[in-house]
Amino acid sequence: PRKPARKPEWLKAKAPVGETFHALKKMARELNLHTVCESAQCPNIGECWNQKAATFMMLGNLCTRRCGFCAVPKGKPEPIDFDEPRRVAYAVAQLGLAHAVITSVNRDDDNIGAARAFVKVIEEIRLQAVGCRVEVLTPDFQGVEEALRLVVAARPEILNHNIETVPRLYRVAKSGGRYERSLGFLEKAKAIAAETGETLVTKTGIIVGMGEEMHELLAVFRDLADRKVDILTIGQYLRPSRDHLVMSRYYTPEEFAFLKHEALGMGFRHVESGPLVRSSYHAHEQAQSTGLA
Ligand code: SF4
Ligand code: SF4
Repeated sequence: PRKPARKPEWLKAKAPVGETFHALKKMARELNLHTVCESAQCPNIGECWNQKAATFMMLGNLCTRRCGFCAVPKGKPEPIDFDEPRRVAYAVAQLGLAHAVITSVNRDDDNIGAARAFVKVIEEIRLQAVGCRVEVLTPDFQGVEEALRLVVAARPEILNHNIETVPRLYRVAKSGGRYERSLGFLEKAKAIAAETGETLVTKTGIIVGMGEEMHELLAVFRDLADRKVDILTIGQYLRPSRDHLVMSRYYTPEEFAFLKHEALGMGFRHVESGPLVRSSYHAHEQAQSTGLA
């Protein structure tokens, strides 16, 4: 394929400098915590961290999957550290976050253990950072329903699970994942909450620029809207290195606006769409406009 053009102006993010940025970096290191902001080389780190918005990544810094777009290191993980959720909550409390986003690497070696860590982090944040909203961005737990049930029962304010790409590209971009399984996860989560009369806000994200066609994206939006997913994020793929999936093209700001318009028309309550949008970008504002704040 043709080499994509040089990085357009609209993708230039703020440089990672500033007092708050360095304080957060130091704290994460001292508490032996990982952030997806650093591990996934997120371009928004300068902006987010200076606004005290960070996404903590639990369960180690090595992922058992090898998604073609992702910069998180891959390998055989260490045993799960069940003290980590407590330290994450401590960091959340220290930062005075009003909205915490917690994610993890995939742990295909221990789905129930991974779910338990999410439960623990929700409970610890409730204890240590009273009033803080919790958004968990979880793996699919390989479809193990018991794992999903544990997380839903802990009642996070938002349950986020990323669909990432169109079904045709799962093989190259998200090889350990299954499109239908991820859709089922988002649908099932709401159904489990409804069993006890609760409503659960669900969220998902998609990355564009990995070779998908516009009509395929719109079909995915429709699948997600059919599952009553509340919040959708849409952002540009940026190739982390030459070892990662080739970028097909840059979407223009007008195309992101078009995608947002289309998605809103399908019934999502909030859509964040733009070149630098990531799953956790403006998470606080997304929750507010969904009526959670
Ligand atoms: Fe971190 Fe998310 Fe902000 Fe990126 S967008 S720096 S991952 S909080
Ligand atoms: Fe990255 Fe894929 Fe692992 Fe998530 S599951 S951390 S996207 S390699």
